[in-house]
Amino acid sequence: MRRKMAAGNWKMNGLKSSLAELEKLARAHPTASCDLLICPPATLLCAAATTCGNSAIRIGGQTCHEATSGAHTGDISAQMLRDAGATAVILGHSERRQDHDERSEDVRLLAQSAQSAGLQTVICVGESLFQRDATNTLDIIGAQLSLSIPDSSTGENLVVAYEPVWAIGSGLTPTTDQIGEVHDFMRARLEQRFGYGVGKSVRLLYGGSVKPANAAEIFAISNVDGALVGGASLKADDFAPIIAAL
Ligand code: PGA
Repeated sequence: MRRKMAAGNWKMNGLKSSLAELEKLARAHPTASCDLLICPPATLLCAAATTCGNSAIRIGGQTCHEATSGAHTGDISAQMLRDAGATAVILGHSERRQDHDERSEDVRLLAQSAQSAGLQTVICVGESLFQRDATNTLDIIGAQLSLSIPDSSTGENLVVAYEPVWAIGSGLTPTTDQIGEVHDFMRARLEQRFGYGVGKSVRLLYGGSVKPANAAEIFAISNVDGALVGGASLKADDFAPIIAAL
């Protein structure tokens, strides 16, 4: 049985005052039967880790650099994320792929370094609308999976998030059949590459316009083990019902 997981990606949102939302969420979840992760901007990591204290909420980064330290102005290493209280990191989000030209080969290097620093890696894959319309979705996802995921991955340190680029922040979501098709495909690919045991235990999250109103329907799809949530993770009153739907 895979433990369900809800992860919140705050992206470039959140000031110190936003920690009140995290505090509310943490208070409401002193313990949980699922994995709960919030990835605030790097400026809030230390404070967010303190805010979460001994609650069930873990803290994660939104990307990291492949090197452990050195002359990389503005970058943050996996080790620094750990030091700030993070236990996980989102890698290869489509906004990073687009805005920072991260290719799957780059994502793999970041993931290698994050996993060796002891972080759980939430590796994102997803097709554009153009690619879906051209019926290339599974080819794209297959290539992103094989190139982005490092060999050092295990059922504990790897989580994969399927996020169709066109569903992110758009209010559009794929049909349950479309999500199911991709998740079944990802499961089969992971089992092929890592063997049945590991492939079966990797959590597969869906992301893209998940909200309280559609969470239960999405979580009922086979091989969907939770969600990576953007906009609806910013407010405790939106994120809590998504957690409750797991
Ligand atoms: P959204 O973002 O929930 O706001 O669509 C999801 C994501 O980018 O992870």
